[in-house]
Amino acid sequence: MNKTALSVLNTVFGYPEFRSPQDEVIETIINGENALVLMPTGGGKSLCYQIPALIRSGCAIVISPLIALMQDQVNALTQLGVKASFLNSSLDQNQAFDVEQALRQGQLDLLYIAPERLIQARMLSLLQQCPIALFAIDEAHCVSQWGHDFRADYLKLSLLHQQFPAVPRIALTATADPRTHKEISEKLQLDDAKHFVAGFDRPNIQYRIGQKQNARQQLLSFIRNEHENDAGIIYCLSRKKTEETAKWLCQQGLQALPYHAGLANDVKERHQNRFLREDSIIIVATIAFGMGIDKPDVRFVAHLDLPKSIESYYQETGRAGRDGQAANAWMVYGLQDVIKLKQMLDKSEAGEQQKRIERQRLDAMLGLCEITTCRRQTLLQYFDEHLAQPCGNCDTCITPVQTWDGTNAARKALSCVYRTGQRFGVSHLIDVLLGKSTAKIEQFQHQQLSTFAIGTELEIQQWHSVFRQLVSRGYIYADMDSYGALKLTDKCRPLLRGEESIELRKDNIEKVKKKNSSKSVKSTAALPEEAQPLWQALRALRKQLAIEHGIPPFTVFHDSTMMAMISANPTNKQELLTISGVGLSKLDKYGEQFLAVIAQFNG
Ligand code: ADP
Ligand code: ZN
Repeated sequence: MNKTALSVLNTVFGYPEFRSPQDEVIETIINGENALVLMPTGGGKSLCYQIPALIRSGCAIVISPLIALMQDQVNALTQLGVKASFLNSSLDQNQAFDVEQALRQGQLDLLYIAPERLIQARMLSLLQQCPIALFAIDEAHCVSQWGHDFRADYLKLSLLHQQFPAVPRIALTATADPRTHKEISEKLQLDDAKHFVAGFDRPNIQYRIGQKQNARQQLLSFIRNEHENDAGIIYCLSRKKTEETAKWLCQQGLQALPYHAGLANDVKERHQNRFLREDSIIIVATIAFGMGIDKPDVRFVAHLDLPKSIESYYQETGRAGRDGQAANAWMVYGLQDVIKLKQMLDKSEAGEQQKRIERQRLDAMLGLCEITTCRRQTLLQYFDEHLAQPCGNCDTCITPVQTWDGTNAARKALSCVYRTGQRFGVSHLIDVLLGKSTAKIEQFQHQQLSTFAIGTELEIQQWHSVFRQLVSRGYIYADMDSYGALKLTDKCRPLLRGEESIELRKDNIEKVKKKNSSKSVKSTAALPEEAQPLWQALRALRKQLAIEHGIPPFTVFHDSTMMAMISANPTNKQELLTISGVGLSKLDKYGEQFLAVIAQFNG
């Protein structure tokens, strides 16, 4: 291992050792070779270019699409004593001139630039005049035209290869699917780059997927029981729903803010900043939110609507727990979600082939929802990674799911669809099965059907579960051309003919629980009760320092670093320096104040 790299890791960043494959990536770049790095969120991608930036001569250029976050990234580096700056449209002419001047005079270790700025002829010629340590292309999946993060300017970044053939390039992404990797490699002309793929498991994230009953109440009880005062992200499908949900959560006394592409830029920026800077803000967002959100202490990601693919689910849930502390990925879904997504897909403008791929992706996602075995094993398998044992940290591991022989019930449900002429939605079908007397049943004379009242052995919820699983598994589908009526597919035949049987999952209904009755993964659960006062005091100090320096609290110290302080109980600077996350610069800036607070609680 490169000795210099390790000593930079220890003294500047305050971390004792590299995580695999950081050291190999760093070595590659230091040697002037190219690299393509695929690491899960929270894996530690930034160090892969920040450390070579400090070791190679010249300035490292970091290309990032997220100009709103550059300031924070630069602040965080400045806290570590690293000379970093950024160039984007938020600077006025004088400020930009000063940064360019600093670059020219060789005063910068790292410079963050937005892609549209980098590709300007003026900028390129400026870079030609300066020694460049490396180019880091962050969020490299933005070259992919299939993804929703596509940025046209990213396609032009292949010019780096042409204009700066001697400068090593490193492209980084958390997107896991091989197709995107290939695209990155092609479009950025990185054919000769070494590939580094870190394992995609995020063991600190607890995966939970449940059935929708009363989604809002379920969500509220989840937050109240397990995440009081924690920061979190809630994903919804529509802009309207993000706003309504945020408003409702505020009425319940939580601090929730909406975020979606339709909000004015200044509103988006304000909400994002509050999320980053305050301790317990909940963002209720569409998929527009999240890329590159560099907040390490997001304790939960909740989905009120189904993501379209396992890739999206993995990426969105991955924004929880970047600091490695316990975090939750929580989701509820129901039949309506399945139908809605399938409809959106059918109606989309995409070509037939693209639609087919999207359908397969959605089916894989539904498969993950409906499985009765370990979620993590299935999730990782999707990315071709094999986990030998069930994880013990997902809902199906914690509360094993029962299955039941649903053959008879499924046949009744399918017959009912058939007998009613494949013209009705699920509520009516269930009314028929249960033998209800409703106006609609009267109107269509459905009490005369052979399937009327043949399903009284199950309750309404159970029938919903049967229909949901039949739709998820492709036995029936909602036909948009007839107002979402459920229709049979060819797959039904063997089941209806009695040639096939079907096992269904018995849904574990996550009851709206009383406080403290659940297996919670509270962020501070690891701390003994008597350490709480010190924890609160450290948090208060961190907050005060953050306000003084105009930076987010986690930029002072992470939760994990403060927890380590509590258990190591350092009494002097020497001891404080051994704690992971304390480097020389922060020791100097904050060491005494933190030691003083710790000492107060020792006496
Ligand atoms: P990514 O960009 O891959 O999502 P980051 O680079 O933001 O991840 O790193 C995630 C977190 O892990 C950060 O808080 C970072 O400081 C921390 N980290 C990175 N590398 C190490 C390491 N070798 N030891 C300890 N913590 C690390
Ligand atoms: Zn599991």
